[in-house]
Amino acid sequence: MPEPIIVLDGLQKSYRDTRAVDGVSLAIAPGEIFGFLGANGAGKTTTIRMLCGLVKPSGGSARIAGRDVWRERYEVRTKFGYVAQKFSLYPDLTVVENLRFFGGAYRVPRARLEARIEKLLGEMDLAAKRDALAGALSGGMKQLLALACALIHEPVLLFLDEPTSGLDPVHRQQIWDLLYHLAHDGTTVFVTTHYMDEAERCTSVGFLHSGRLLARETPRRLKQSFKVPVLDMHVEPVMPALVQLRAAPGVLGVSLRSGHGRVYAADPRKLVAEWQERWPFPGLTWHGHTWAEPDMEDVFKAYSQGYHEILAEAAP
Ligand code: ATP
Repeated sequence: MPEPIIVLDGLQKSYRDTRAVDGVSLAIAPGEIFGFLGANGAGKTTTIRMLCGLVKPSGGSARIAGRDVWRERYEVRTKFGYVAQKFSLYPDLTVVENLRFFGGAYRVPRARLEARIEKLLGEMDLAAKRDALAGALSGGMKQLLALACALIHEPVLLFLDEPTSGLDPVHRQQIWDLLYHLAHDGTTVFVTTHYMDEAERCTSVGFLHSGRLLARETPRRLKQSFKVPVLDMHVEPVMPALVQLRAAPGVLGVSLRSGHGRVYAADPRKLVAEWQERWPFPGLTWHGHTWAEPDMEDVFKAYSQGYHEILAEAAP
């Protein structure tokens, strides 16, 4: 394995009573697309902000390209681009003026800057909007501009905090195509997302829960970490079915998927056998069931809800 570009070692951040990040250790190789997953408040943004030298760690350490992210934050800053959750653009500047501003802030040499701007305008499909005010762009275009600004100095590493939140599927795809190209050319991508189809596209995924890294694996291996299949129940009427199935003994949780109840249980085959013998829900009609291979939605549900009985140890 090549030298990791990012190394976290027991990284911690506390805010008064809150352990936002609770001893995270992890190494990320160059060219990876690392997906950082976790429920709201799990500590993802705090981790990224520490890595970007914006927040001082309370304990442990983190290094980017061998340098400490806090003590050497000014040197480290030249190595990465950061697309924050909230737009960091200047709404009263045009598209090109924003790019020039960030180019100046990152000290891109003048001779190089205009060529960089033209290249990024082309790649981000923003050439026609070059003189539009950033504040007047659509959400998708703003995000493409934020990405362009973060890439102006050709960083080896890119942090993106929910880059596709609220975007339509076409813009989401466009951003992911760009991330693929970047990774293909050797840029390391560290991205948080709540979209599990995006998590599937990462080369590896870390799952954060209450500030702790519960798992770090490829999406395929995370899906394989289920010890049992997922039970897909076709029961009607479906909404009361969800409530009653959830309360049934042996059921850990149920979610609605394509009009069916997706049932998580430590021993789902035993449950089905029991229900075939005696269906305990007189108001519900059982039309059938299938066994499903877990997908990343299931993985997210199981990790975030703490269904440890059905997960094999997936050590970070
Ligand atoms: P989301 O998916 O909603 O963006 P997240 O995983 O990025 O969530 P963080 O924003 O890192 O989570 O927050 C982790 C925890 O730290 C939360 O409990 C949050 O309230 C707390 N926290 C974050 N920043 C601060 C702060 N500046 N002061 C106090 N508490 C904070």
